[in-house]
Amino acid sequence: MRREWSLRRRLAFGLMLAALLPVLLFSGVMLSNQWSREHDGLLLRLEANARLSASIIDAFLDAQLAGVRLLAERPMEAGPDGAELAQLLAIYPTMLRALHANAEGDVVTARDTRGRSLAPLKKLVRGDDWFVAARDAHRPYVSDAFRRTAYGNEIVVAVSAPLLEDGRFDGTVSAALPVESLARLNASGLSRLRMELLLLDRSNRVIYAGPGVNLAPLSPAGRNGDIIRGQAAAVDRQAEALKLSGLLRDGDTAYVHAVAMNNGWTLALLAPGRLLLEPLLPHLLLLAPLVLVSLLGVYLAVRKQRLLLERSIGGLLVSVQGYALGGTMDAARMKGMPQELHPLSEGIGELAMRLNHTYGELQQVLDERDQVIAAKTESLREAVAALDRLSRTDALTGALNYRGFLETGERLWQEAERRDKPLSVLMLDIDHFKRYNDHYGHAEGDGVLRRFVGAVRSALQHVDDVLARPGGEEFAVFLPGSTHEQALNVARRVCQRVRDADIEHVAVDGGRLTVSIGVATRQGNEGSLEALLLQADEALYRAKAGGRDRVSE
Ligand code: GH3
Ligand code: MG
Ligand code: MG
Repeated sequence: MRREWSLRRRLAFGLMLAALLPVLLFSGVMLSNQWSREHDGLLLRLEANARLSASIIDAFLDAQLAGVRLLAERPMEAGPDGAELAQLLAIYPTMLRALHANAEGDVVTARDTRGRSLAPLKKLVRGDDWFVAARDAHRPYVSDAFRRTAYGNEIVVAVSAPLLEDGRFDGTVSAALPVESLARLNASGLSRLRMELLLLDRSNRVIYAGPGVNLAPLSPAGRNGDIIRGQAAAVDRQAEALKLSGLLRDGDTAYVHAVAMNNGWTLALLAPGRLLLEPLLPHLLLLAPLVLVSLLGVYLAVRKQRLLLERSIGGLLVSVQGYALGGTMDAARMKGMPQELHPLSEGIGELAMRLNHTYGELQQVLDERDQVIAAKTESLREAVAALDRLSRTDALTGALNYRGFLETGERLWQEAERRDKPLSVLMLDIDHFKRYNDHYGHAEGDGVLRRFVGAVRSALQHVDDVLARPGGEEFAVFLPGSTHEQALNVARRVCQRVRDADIEHVAVDGGRLTVSIGVATRQGNEGSLEALLLQADEALYRAKAGGRDRVSE
């Protein structure tokens, strides 16, 4: 779901951005400057030390070569003897052993550092590069690295000089130097700088590799070696610094500066990439509290703003609630609100006043409308009641019509049942009314029906008695609460009142209108309204059959 838009969150975000952006920008620029300074410094140190190391080793080898050459050029009969070789070893303590080989490459005389004589061996050195160079070029030579198992296990390089007899090659004088001795020359300086030394010979093999370098002595230096030798050989020394991976044992990338040495070797100094990052750490440690302090500042500012905002909005809310009840803006509360909210608050006040006013008017209109509706509802209710009454009333006589007769009968029956009270019913039928109509006309008959009803009503004394006209010239009277005896009396009285009305009816014997009545009363708690009416009808039939103008039960 999309988050709600919040003033507070936006404010916090904006403030954080405003405070952190400069800090981060400043930190970035500072770190980047520092890094590029370190970078340039490292490359400079790397180059200077590579040159220094190369010149130290070059000088050292030159000195060793000079010693061998001096011995080779001394005039003598058959090359140096054992004592002279031992003397050379004594003067140059780094030399491991000294050899005199004849022109065929046989070792004639050999001495080790303690002056011991080593076994002369045939054809031992004739394939060695230093022997070949001395023989063919008649010049002193520093060899590539090798291991001569016949005389020891160390990895060595040989320095050699030709023995010349009247310009003719007559053998060599040579000495073996352990490559470790070359590494030791500037070892303390390099380890202080945390740089590694790598020496490659003319055939791209490793002469010496510092302890942190991932290359073994005498092994081919491979692709990285080619690259390094390429840099050393490059004419343009200002070319960008080498950055090689896979050279250091700890996996770090190495910045490399390579120098070509006098004897054709390549010297390279390696500086691990972390040397650039480590100096940045103190700066990072300095920046971290800066960022933290900025964050804290932002947090406090946001908190303060939030409280202010909540208080102001809360105040506004309270006053809006106050307005809703017809109140006004509290001046004290207005003071606690930021100035920016004052117009809003005043606007709300004005709106509320108008609202209250309109609400009053609306209330008045609604009250009036309510009264009108109530009056209309009342008259409607009366009209409905009148209609209801009319729908149950016979228009001619005012007695209940057939519908009213059935409903009232049902209601009185249920009442009698509920209260366990008697209910009597009279069934009335005017005698020979057809003849009356025939003789006097229908309209005259209607008038007589009204007079007849008046006569019947005059005989009913109880307010609860109900007169109905189920149809034609037949009538029914319900007498709730009346016993059978009482009902018979009422029926006789009705007969008498009709006679007393003295309505002329010349078409019958006696010349006067009469009525026949059947009476029935609800017995006990059984039966039904239909059965009671039927019973009354049967009684009426008997009254008719018995000669009319009488009551029957
Ligand atoms: P009986 O004594 O056996 O009741 O004879 P009767 O003529 O009264 O009975 P019948 O049922 O043969 O006739 C009823 C007459 O009542 C027929 C009809 O013309 C007349 N009548 C019924 N309703 C009205 C009315 O609303 N107005 C008038 N004027 N006459 C009516
Ligand atoms: Mg009839
Ligand atoms: Mg009749």
